Order: sequence, then C-alpha cells, then structure tokens
Amino acid sequence: MADGGQVKNIEHDAEREARRRTALAQIRQYPDPVLRMRAREVEVFDEALARQAARMIALMNDASGVGLAANQVGSLLRMFTIELGEDEPAQAIVNPRITPLSEELESDEEGCLSLPGVLVPVERPISVRLEGQGVDGRELALELDGLSARAVQHEVDHLDGVLTFDRTTPEARREALATLRPRVVIAGSR
Ligand code: ZN
Repeated sequence: MADGGQVKNIEHDAEREARRRTALAQIRQYPDPVLRMRAREVEVFDEALARQAARMIALMNDASGVGLAANQVGSLLRMFTIELGEDEPAQAIVNPRITPLSEELESDEEGCLSLPGVLVPVERPISVRLEGQGVDGRELALELDGLSARAVQHEVDHLDGVLTFDRTTPEARREALATLRPRVVIAGSR
C-alpha cells in the first residue's frame, strides 16, 4: 500500500534517532575535563589504534557528525576521524599538523558533538595544508578549503584542549556558557 513507504521511513528515522542518541551518550560532553587536555603524539601504529579509529568512525557516523577527536571518546592520542566531502569515505588522521595557506579569514557558525545546543561563529583561515599520518603510519598531506578546512581546524583544536567558544566573540561565548550551564548543574548534582 502507498502508506507503507511512509511508515517504513518513520521507523527508519526513529531507528536513526535512537542510534544518534546512543552514540552521543558515548561522546564526552562539556565540562568533562578530558576536553581541556592536550592529546599526545601517537608513536605506536598497532591493531589497538586501528580498532579505536574504526570505533570512532562508527560513532561519528551514528552521531551524524563530520568529525570526531580522540578526546571526545576519552582518549588522549593525537588522532581524529573526519569525512572530507560526501563522496569521500571517513578516515582517521593521526598526528595532524595544520599550516594556513591563506591569510584570508572567514567566520562561520560551528557546532560540536560535545557542546549540545551551542552554535557559535568562529573565524578561521579559509584554506589550509593538513599533514599527518594514516592509522597505518603512512604519511599524508592534503590541501583543503571551505568546510573541510574548517572541520580539520576544529578537530586539531580538540586535540589541543580548545573548544569553539574559546575562539568566538565575547557575546557568543557568554551565550554558549549560559546554554551549557544548566547541564553543569545537573551533572554536579548527581
Ligand atoms: Zn567538536
């Protein structure tokens, strides 16, 4: 019947929403102190690292995110996962280094899986060179612009313990902290 398709869609969306909530529950939320720590360089490229990368990619996909840093899953390895465009498979970048390729800055709203309900303007270089390694240790270098350039800068900030509201306007920072405050009270009272 004609309605069948819609019912299935609703079920599908409900299932997707349930997956998203389950994923978010596994992602560290502000004010978890691990989000303020600097992650360490990865020196050993082993099975455990590959497993962690695979787990982060699955979580990122389930949470409908485009990027996820190790701090956000409670790990202090310098690694993040990222989806660089819709046709690109998600990948893990280890020991990332970013060099701006232009002096031109652009401001855009950024959300974060660890800061629910917070969307603040962040000014960043519009194009960057990203160097680092894959989970197998092979060296890589990419030139990125637009949303991809913004996304990798956001992830490297995480690895340095920096959050979006550290880089926004004083007004937006105040608003962000006000949005997050009720959660802090709830977490503290448990
Ligand atoms: Zn984030």
